[in-house]
Amino acid sequence: MNKRQLLQQAKRIVDSRRYAAEEQRERVLEQLRQNDEWRLAEQRLRSAQVDLAMGYGDATALKNTVAALEKQLSELLKKSGVKPSELTPRYSCKLCNDTGYVDGKMCNCLQTELRRLIIAGSNIPDKDFTFENSSETDKHNLAVYKKVKQICDLGDKNILLTGQVGTGKTYLLSAAANYAAQCGKSVLFVTAYSLNADFLAAYLDGQDASSALLENLIDTDLLLIDDLGTERLVNNVTANFLFNVLNERMLARKQIFFTTNLQLKDIQDRYDERIVSRLLDQSRTFIAKLAGDDKRLAKNRPV
Ligand SMILES: [Zn+2]
Repeated sequence: MNKRQLLQQAKRIVDSRRYAAEEQRERVLEQLRQNDEWRLAEQRLRSAQVDLAMGYGDATALKNTVAALEKQLSELLKKSGVKPSELTPRYSCKLCNDTGYVDGKMCNCLQTELRRLIIAGSNIPDKDFTFENSSETDKHNLAVYKKVKQICDLGDKNILLTGQVGTGKTYLLSAAANYAAQCGKSVLFVTAYSLNADFLAAYLDGQDASSALLENLIDTDLLLIDDLGTERLVNNVTANFLFNVLNERMLARKQIFFTTNLQLKDIQDRYDERIVSRLLDQSRTFIAKLAGDDKRLAKNRPV
């Protein structure tokens, strides 16, 4: 889903809260309208209010009528045992009364819902893999972390993270994904392996490299591809589809972040020139190698 669709869905959720709050009030009103006296007074009040608003008749007399009817309704309410608060919709968000907007700006509740949907649909491996939670201590790696966060903020360059297995590439990629999602960007996290499987399925389904199935890969604000190089290269599929995604995203000035265990030289050998020239163009891609031991092994080492 693209950001517009996610926002629509978030808005529907906030709207449904408002409907629920207002429905509760309607139910109480229905109950009160069982009483003929209430129903009649309510009808007369509405009609007097309309006349007053439209400027029909004597304004002073109408104002008196409105006041008298309001008083009558309030007394009837007291008699009915219904608390006045029950006639006030209990909105979940007091800031926007569950409309999602305050002064034309997105309310916090709508933003929260949007972020929740982004993360839910993002496929990020772990929502706790964040810049704040990181236990990285290596000076070089910390500088890379800082730069990655900066690029997330600027939204300008692509990122290619290299390094051996277990140097924390997937962690950093996830941290970038979680951070972007928190900033309200739509995010899609995939492994190169699963992406290739999707490419192959689309190809076997008779769709070409620009098919609608792949729109999502181009629509999303930030695409993150983990473990480039672990996918099997399928003739007529991997290179064509990957190039298309890369190219379309770059034309749309949308970021794409990768991790890979491959050396840059291996990338040049493995992928065709069209992909390599885009991927390794340092004016458009920040390339960094994470240093260090295998963190996953280190964790299990006896102290
Ligand atoms: Zn709100």
